[in-house]
Amino acid sequence: MTRKLITGGTVVTATETMRADVLIDGEKIVGLLGADVESPEVDLAIDATDRLVFPGSIDAHTHMEIPFGAATSKDTFETGTRAAAWGGTTTIIDFPIQMKGDSLIGSFEQTMAKAAGNSAIDFGFHQIVGDVNEQSLAELNLVLEEGVTSYKLFTAYPGVYYSTDGEVARVMQWAAGNGSTILMHAENGSAIDLLREQAIARGDTSPLAHALTRPAEMEGEAAHRVILLAEMTGAPVYIVHISAKQVVAEIAAARRRGTNAFGETCPQYLYLELDMLDQGFEGAKYVCSPPLRDPGEGHQKALWQGLAGGDLQVIATDHCPFDFEGQKTLGRNDFTQIPNGLPVVEHRFPLMVHAALEEGRFSLNRMVDVSSTAPAKMFGLYPQKGTIAVGSDADLAIVDPGAKVVLSAESHHMNVDYSCFEGKELTGRIETVMSRGSIIVSDGKFVGKQSHGRYLRRGLNQLLQ
Ligand SMILES: [Zn+2]
Repeated sequence: MTRKLITGGTVVTATETMRADVLIDGEKIVGLLGADVESPEVDLAIDATDRLVFPGSIDAHTHMEIPFGAATSKDTFETGTRAAAWGGTTTIIDFPIQMKGDSLIGSFEQTMAKAAGNSAIDFGFHQIVGDVNEQSLAELNLVLEEGVTSYKLFTAYPGVYYSTDGEVARVMQWAAGNGSTILMHAENGSAIDLLREQAIARGDTSPLAHALTRPAEMEGEAAHRVILLAEMTGAPVYIVHISAKQVVAEIAAARRRGTNAFGETCPQYLYLELDMLDQGFEGAKYVCSPPLRDPGEGHQKALWQGLAGGDLQVIATDHCPFDFEGQKTLGRNDFTQIPNGLPVVEHRFPLMVHAALEEGRFSLNRMVDVSSTAPAKMFGLYPQKGTIAVGSDADLAIVDPGAKVVLSAESHHMNVDYSCFEGKELTGRIETVMSRGSIIVSDGKFVGKQSHGRYLRRGLNQLLQ
């Protein structure tokens, strides 16, 4: 076994900030040594003087190589997990997608075949349930046996992924029976489809109409409804990619009632805004669902406060990149044909480091919680993942807090031809990244292996109240 020691750094977890050397044996952390402890013999010492040592970050919501309309998201598991590693992320949770008429277990097996042997970092899955029927419900038990303990349903996209309230409730009943968690894409798809059809009929075809036909109230409405369905059935519910203040309020109110309701937001909803869609067809670069919102209405403020104060628990990405040329342009004359999704997986953790260090949005400890520890607990990976502790996997991100980086399509590693954060300067540079004791990024260079990442069988939600 190879022993490594990370020396001289400041270790930051969700609860502690401490000067400590991190001793690693093979794939695991085996010691945290105070400054006055004599250094043990090791095979490799990594100098982290003046550096912050964080747990490897967890992106609990990515979509590598998935179809959306006529396009397929550009990052494969290979390119997407490598880009994630560059950004200090050492675990992703992606999604097998059962479409209408598909076998559920078949979709799991297909996604496993794509990811296994092709991921630079460890990965788990949430299962998308796109066709609720007796066969699917039976197959859910098979997926559960594979260590998938969370299931995603949609109140959006009628005719594609949409489930009726009764179908959502049926899967929630099943989840309540075994303790697994239901993820919800909460937007009122039926009302939104009406607005979309009306916009196209009156000739409103530009990317801005994408956002204007998905009002925040319809995100709040759907969140309210699915939280009540969760209360009726007893299943824990986790609302994904929250963009609207109304949803933050729904989750806060539900949690005060003692309901196991949880919320995730993404960097795009914190840093990007409605106006970015209002620049002719260039706005297609910012088309995602739910859409970017008007900060004048207080959405960003509510999301930041939710993350800092605990009403929201997780920051993920919904990473789903499409090239501008050739993919986003499919919707040049009709916004409904623009593939939905943004490239974010590489930048989530650096943006959160910046938010803590430079903007003072929250403490570094709270930053680690929302970006690593809480996702690990929410999705049954803690304490193997999500912290720096004796016995945890040696997944680490070493950051120079004094360095600056500028985000750009020229320098990013995601397999997509534009950046939605072009030109943004961040404080903090990810220097070294380790996954299960192996260095995968060194001084900003990828030195990992395409087949390093392992499938993670997950336990149940550890954040239930
Ligand atoms: Zn998603």
